[in-house]
Amino acid sequence: MDFQLSSQEEKFRDEVRAFLKDNLPPEGEKRPADFLAQWNTKVREKRWVGFSWPAEVGGGGGSLMEQVILKEEMARAKAPGLGTCFMGLAWVGPSIIQYGTEEQKQKYIPDILDGAYQWCTGYSEPDSGSDLASLKCKCVREGDEYVVNGQKIWTSIAMWSKMMILLVRTDTEVDSKHDGITCLLVEMDSEGLEVRPIKNMGGGAMFAEVFFNDVRVPVENRLGDEGQGWQVTVSALANERSSIAEVYGLRRKMDELEDLAERTVRAGQKAIEMPSIRRRLQRADIRIEAMRLNGQRFLTKQLRGEPLGSETSINKLHRAALEVEMGELAMEITGSASTLMRGSDVAPDNGRWADYALGWPEVVIGGGTPNIQKNIIAERLLGLPKD
Ligand SMILES: Cc1cc2nc3c(=O)[nH]c(=O)nc-3n(C[C@H](O)[C@H](O)[C@H](O)COP(=O)(O)OP(=O)(O)OC[C@H]3O[C@@H](n4cnc5c(N)ncnc54)[C@H](O)[C@@H]3O)c2cc1C
Repeated sequence: MDFQLSSQEEKFRDEVRAFLKDNLPPEGEKRPADFLAQWNTKVREKRWVGFSWPAEVGGGGGSLMEQVILKEEMARAKAPGLGTCFMGLAWVGPSIIQYGTEEQKQKYIPDILDGAYQWCTGYSEPDSGSDLASLKCKCVREGDEYVVNGQKIWTSIAMWSKMMILLVRTDTEVDSKHDGITCLLVEMDSEGLEVRPIKNMGGGAMFAEVFFNDVRVPVENRLGDEGQGWQVTVSALANERSSIAEVYGLRRKMDELEDLAERTVRAGQKAIEMPSIRRRLQRADIRIEAMRLNGQRFLTKQLRGEPLGSETSINKLHRAALEVEMGELAMEITGSASTLMRGSDVAPDNGRWADYALGWPEVVIGGGTPNIQKNIIAERLLGLPKD
C-alpha cells in the first residue's frame, strides 16, 4: 500500500483545510441559526456534494484519493455531512448515473445534489428480506404505464420521501428468481400508494409499510431495462456496503464514549478509571483500527483499478458487531441510569445513549444481516460450499 500523496492531492488537502478553517466554527462555539443551510450551499458550490460523480452530471469529478482526503478532513474537523439527500447520494444517484436515461439524469441528479427532497428504498417485502430476489410485488405493463400491486415493508423514511426506488416483479415465468425483476422510480404521492409508519423499539417511527393498489408508473420512470432490476440493485447495494465514511463515524462515536466515561462517576469512581470499561474501550478501538486497515486494503484495490466485490461484506460485518458492542458499552458506562429514555430529567445526555443502544437494527439488519454477510464471505471469498 502506498498512500503517499501527490503534489496535486496535497494541494487539495490544503484547500479542504482552508475551507474548514473559514467556514466551520470551532467546537463548542455557538453556531448561527442558518449555519447548516449556509454550509449546504457552500459545499454544493464547491462541488463537494457528489464529489466522486462525473462533472457532466453536476458532480465534482474527484478522484478516489481526493474523495478519501475530503472525507478524512471533514471527519477530523467533525464537520456536518456533505449533502442532505442520504439515499439519493448513497445509492439512488449512482444507480441513475450508471443505468439511467439522459432525461432521468437531468431530472433527478441535480435535486439529489441540492438535497431538494428525500428518496426511499422499496426493496424488502414481508416474505422477502435476506432472500430479496424472491420478491413478489406485481407489476404489469399497460401501454405507456406500469401498474403496481403489492406491499413493501421496513421502508426507511417513506413518510418523508418524495420519491422511491422500487423493485417489482414484471415476469414470473423465469428460470432464475433473479430474472424478471424491474426497477422503477416512483413518486410517493401517486394515487393508490399508501404509507403506514411502523414504530420501532426506541419509540420512534423511522420506517413504514408501503402498499401499492393499482399504482400507475410511467414507463419512462423505469431504471434500466425491463428485467434488469437485479443488476441495478446489486450495484446499488455495493455502493451502500462500500461506504468509506463508516470508520470515521465510529471513531467519532468512540471519542464521545471516552468523553462520557470521563464525565460519568459511579460509586465514587470515574467510569474511565474502571478496568472493565477501559478494557472494552480498548477492544472497540482496536476493532475500528482493523476496520480502517481493511478499508485501506479495499482502497488499494480500487486505486489499482480492480473492482470491489464481496470484500465489502467484511467491514459491514465488523461494523454490525461494533455498533452493538458500543451501544452496550454506553449502557455499562452509565450503569442503572442507562435505562432512562429521552424526556427523563435525569437521563444521561437526555437519553441519547439509550437511543443509540436501541438503534442497532438499522446498521445490523439494514442492507443485509450478519448471517448473510457471513454467507457471502464464506462462499464468494473463501470458496466454501453453498449454504
Ligand atoms: C432499521 C431498518 C431499516 C431498514 N430499511 C429498509 C429500507 O429502507 N428499504 C428496504 O427495502 N428494506 C429495509 N430494511 C429491511 C432489511 O433490508 C431486511 O430487514 C433485511 O434484509 C432482513 O430481512 P428480513 O427482515 O425479511 O429477515 P429474514 O430474511 O426473514 O431473516 C430472519 C433471520 O434469518 C436469518 N437468515 C435468513 N436467511 C438466511 C440464510 N440463507 N442463512 C443464514 N441465515 C439466514 C437472518 O440473518 C435473520 O437473522 C430495513 C431494516 C431495518 C431493521
